[in-house]
Amino acid sequence: MKLTFKPYNLQLKHTFTIASNSREYTPAMLIELEYEGLVGYGEASMPPYLKETQESVAKFLSKLDLEQFENPFLIDDILEYVENADKGNYAAKASVDMALHDLVGKLMNQPCYKIWGLNPDNSPNTSFTIGIDTPKVITEKVKEASKYKILKIKLGKNTDKEIIETIRSITNKPLCVDINQGWKDKYEALDMAYWLKEKQVMFIEQPMRGNNLDDIAWLTENSPLPIIADESIQTLNDVLPLKGIYSGINIKLMKCGGMRAAYKMIILARALDMKVMIGCMTATSCAISAASQLTPLVDWADLDGNLLINNDIFSGMKIIDGKIKISNIPGIGVEKCL
Ligand code: MG
Repeated sequence: MKLTFKPYNLQLKHTFTIASNSREYTPAMLIELEYEGLVGYGEASMPPYLKETQESVAKFLSKLDLEQFENPFLIDDILEYVENADKGNYAAKASVDMALHDLVGKLMNQPCYKIWGLNPDNSPNTSFTIGIDTPKVITEKVKEASKYKILKIKLGKNTDKEIIETIRSITNKPLCVDINQGWKDKYEALDMAYWLKEKQVMFIEQPMRGNNLDDIAWLTENSPLPIIADESIQTLNDVLPLKGIYSGINIKLMKCGGMRAAYKMIILARALDMKVMIGCMTATSCAISAASQLTPLVDWADLDGNLLINNDIFSGMKIIDGKIKISNIPGIGVEKCL
């Protein structure tokens, strides 16, 4: 198997603001894994908070010698080698995992979800994300998002109620909110949880920083809404310690190292009776379609990262009437458009 890669900047349609920062593009790396005339596609997307860069991903990928593997079906062996090549580097690892699943699916001539025996009708609606902004811009964005059945609203600055009131003056759609660790105090967080419940919000993602587990556990125990971990969870090893602290977890391929790791996290979280959401970074349809293959297994999906950019060079998963429609193209379900 021959691995090649090239950097790619994902141009955001709107400047994206969350509680911690704003940005206009997201650095990414597109990779190809070639074997006997077939090409598996993968992608690493690197939002700044995860600390990976195009340089760090290139450095990690350059270290790998995948030509030593003659059988791509030995996914466990290959990914164990990739995992042990260096610590961290989860977006880089995810790109290899994705390309390998794409390649194996192409060799079997089936999309991954079929190989796993999943029912695509069980995929949920996807939420569409609206960043923190002025009431005027929020109003425009809610109107642009008319075809989505669920909106995910970024909160965590001092305009939370204004934003929710603005949205509720336009639509009665179900909402979920992502605080990105922006709330500071557990009592205020609990007051907001009750207020948001009255506003028909379904759950709250990462309300506060995850370093005070006692406060989060208290909030989860007392909150009328489920509390979902995002920044507080990264890999498979983080799942068990969060049982009893959060109601559920948001899994992202770029955080956990890819589809195989994500699958294991979903199974473990289910066994622990925790809710599961699958989310994403801004990315092309390559990484989004890879994540979509797992959506029949989750409660909620937030796979809109490809819709937030204006230079997607893949086509794959579609959103039809707000619902995820997994692509039937073999592998992770993508075609390159350029
Ligand atoms: Mg989040």
